[in-house]
Amino acid sequence: NAGLGSWPERRLRISPHKPALWFEGTTTTHGEFAHRVRRAAAALAALGVGHGDRVAWLGANHPAALESLYACGQLGAVWVPVNARFTAPEVRYVLEHSGASLVVHGREHGTTADTLRPELPGVREWVAVEAPTAGGAGSLDWQRLLADAEPVLRDEPVTLEDNCLIMYTSGTTGRPKGAVLTHGNMTWSCINQVLGFDFTPDERTLGLAPLFHIGGLNGTLNPTLLRGGCVVLVRGFDPPATLRVIAEQRVTSFFAVPTMLDALSRQPDFGTVDLSALRTIGAAGAPLPLPLLRTWLDRGITVQQAYGMTESAPAGTALDSADAVAKVGSAGKAQFFVDVRVVRPDGTECDPHEIGEVVVSGPNIMAGYWNAPEATEAAIVDGWYHSGDAGSTDEDGYLYIRDRYKDMIISGGENVYPAEVESTMLELPEVAEVAVIGVPDPTWGEVGLAVVVPAPGSDPDPEQLRAELRRRLAGFKVPKYVEFADELPKTATGKVRKPDLRTSYAPTDN
Ligand code: AMP
Ligand code: MG
Repeated sequence: NAGLGSWPERRLRISPHKPALWFEGTTTTHGEFAHRVRRAAAALAALGVGHGDRVAWLGANHPAALESLYACGQLGAVWVPVNARFTAPEVRYVLEHSGASLVVHGREHGTTADTLRPELPGVREWVAVEAPTAGGAGSLDWQRLLADAEPVLRDEPVTLEDNCLIMYTSGTTGRPKGAVLTHGNMTWSCINQVLGFDFTPDERTLGLAPLFHIGGLNGTLNPTLLRGGCVVLVRGFDPPATLRVIAEQRVTSFFAVPTMLDALSRQPDFGTVDLSALRTIGAAGAPLPLPLLRTWLDRGITVQQAYGMTESAPAGTALDSADAVAKVGSAGKAQFFVDVRVVRPDGTECDPHEIGEVVVSGPNIMAGYWNAPEATEAAIVDGWYHSGDAGSTDEDGYLYIRDRYKDMIISGGENVYPAEVESTMLELPEVAEVAVIGVPDPTWGEVGLAVVVPAPGSDPDPEQLRAELRRRLAGFKVPKYVEFADELPKTATGKVRKPDLRTSYAPTDN
């Protein structure tokens, strides 16, 4: 086994007694973790999971997420993390599209399991990692399955070319697309991260960002485990509790999206909390406002802005810690085993300071989108992944992300594609036409604003429309503002002129 599934075994050989995982007061060593993963692999195999099968993970952060990921790696099965904020219809889409045969879920998803079980006969088993807070009586018990399994290593042939996971990411054309990351993609991205963020064997990384996103999973936690450090895992983001854990657990590094850093820096005790162990913070996923960056630098903490994406697992560029101040605002340079260019529409490279599309190439670029060959072909051209991001480099080769060509909103680090929101809103009888744009927001970076042309004879109420949408879409996708108009500005070919809408609806005061 050359894949991720072998990592716990390698750590068992090299550093069995070092801590690997801290969760709610319990520490697990690398050796104990390896045995948990062996048991998990045996339990999944006993439930019929084999090479190539898809196993979904649906939950807030929990050790079982890592156990099931590595166990799948041991079996050659493919791990499919699902956004825990998704509504049941959104979860259903991912499970159906990926063809998951088993779902491991957290305590918050018992009701979702009950709702979807009869609708998805392809899912043979639902397994709860803890007693569900509601529903979920039909789910098996993960802890019991592991306790009953033998910790014997299963030696399945797994290569770096085999699929490791499918991570769904919002798509320009409505439905989410599944980025297929191989064991090789994951490994190379991890090595890039270890080099770019100087991970040490004594790393204590806070697992704060959701594990169903690549930055949280393969940006920091997997590199920490690979290096022999310890993951300090928290279920989710609770700013006061997070600051306490950082201090008490002597956290040395973590990854966060700007919205999280902003919330942490607004805590009343931010100025006095003990951050002395904290070595570096990786910040990516959305533009990082300079004043926010300075807040942390002023507290003596290095913030390494990075730029990456699900499709690159997520290594792209990273700012070296030594450049954090001198190149403030830059996302740094391409990581060691990655190439990043800024190109013109004809594919030629831009000059310094000229804005073009950022493209990324390397052994970490995904194999493609699951069952979507056209989308893959459009995204990866001659080995270069086309990001849809607008950037430029300075004369020293440092990358600055300037804007986005793609019609995407980033709200609190979560990507929202207006196309998906618009098509969902069009299902509502009160909506004749709709266009969704992003508007700046002090808390979330951006939020959605929907401009709705009501159906003839209807007089919809914005709050009621939003409530309808919340049943169909994860909360972060629901536009914060709904405005009404008699018609939408359009081009000669009938496309909505979103730049015009942005001008009309841009906040006038700040
Ligand atoms: P995801 O696949 O969800 O990780 O989203 C990747 C996208 O997030 C990129 O294509 C960018 O649009 C955005 N992004 C990531 N890092 C940065 C950054 N440092 N600055 C600005 N946007 C970023
Ligand atoms: Mg993102």
